[in-house]
Amino acid sequence: MSNINQTLKRLVRREILELSTYQTISPIDGIQLHAMENPYGWPIELKNTLMDELKAVPLNRYPDGGSNTLKQCLNGKLNLDDSSDILFGNGSDELLLILMLALQKPGCSILTVEPTFVMYKSIAAVVNMKYHSVPLTENFSLDIEKTITAIKQYQPSVTFLSYPNNPTANCFDEKAIEAILQAATGIVVLDEAYHLFAKKSFVPRLTHYHNLLVLRTFSKMGLAGLRLGYAIGNRELISVMNKVRLPYNINVLTQQVALFALKYESLFQEQAAKICAEREVLMKGLQQLSGVIVWPTEANFILFKAPGRARLIHEGLKQQNIFIKCLDEGTPALKDCLRVSVGTPEENQIFLEALKKLNGTH
Ligand SMILES: *Cc1c(COP(=O)(O)O)cnc(C)c1O
Repeated sequence: MSNINQTLKRLVRREILELSTYQTISPIDGIQLHAMENPYGWPIELKNTLMDELKAVPLNRYPDGGSNTLKQCLNGKLNLDDSSDILFGNGSDELLLILMLALQKPGCSILTVEPTFVMYKSIAAVVNMKYHSVPLTENFSLDIEKTITAIKQYQPSVTFLSYPNNPTANCFDEKAIEAILQAATGIVVLDEAYHLFAKKSFVPRLTHYHNLLVLRTFSKMGLAGLRLGYAIGNRELISVMNKVRLPYNINVLTQQVALFALKYESLFQEQAAKICAEREVLMKGLQQLSGVIVWPTEANFILFKAPGRARLIHEGLKQQNIFIKCLDEGTPALKDCLRVSVGTPEENQIFLEALKKLNGTH
């Protein structure tokens, strides 16, 4: 019998063998400021009301495959016209996969910018799409000339822009994005995972740009555990993606909880407002540290740089059970960089105090 590793080497594509498993931190005690989660819970009365609703959910039945009740509810809130449609996924990550599977053809490619959300690149490797990227400028803006040139040169099937961008936290210039939408011969995805904090969106432009697909997620608004995202785009594009989607991808409990969350949407909006206010406090705290460079943010996280000591800070915080993201190991543009999510006021203070000590004599 042959060695399993030899067998896998023969069976599995090189691009997949070379991927590293996405590292997740298992829920642990401590201060979790690494994953852009909403730090606030729900009032107990609301949780009890939800539990009563969930009791009535028939778990012996398959879910509504098209998540139609949920779709109608969102449709009303988004004011979409007949040319647009919505598709749900297990997190927007699944929607990225569905889109790329649908557009996968021999020789095709995707385009994005760097630094950005890493899933665009890893899913492209999984589905065998070539990957191209254009570096952002020094202040993390779009390099519009280079991006348009790349679109003309590679004719990517899809161009991904995170808006605001993760991990740089800024929103790209609207005019530059419009230029990309006009130049693109393929689909342009605007990943609006953080729209609740930026309050900017390309949804109103969907009727004008039929190649535009907007991605949203329930994760960053306060339901990361639910795994629900949605794509909004032209009806014909959504219809193609629907062919690729597995029939019952959104389970009954997720659909019911999401409907419930939309009914109490104001709670999440209040929490987002609190997070935005606290973001300013955290920003000021970081700006006061000597030798630390902080970038502006329109999301629920902040990118900052601690030259020569990012890893030391990351490790030191970890030993105190404070978890943030170290970006130092990846692209050179993020050398010495760290990313911190906005937590509760108490969490942010503990983080800032610990950081101040680790930042030492700087
Ligand atoms: C967090 C994040 C997502 C993933 O969202 P899920 O719905 O949790 O899969 C997508 N895009 C960006 C830019 C993100 O930061």
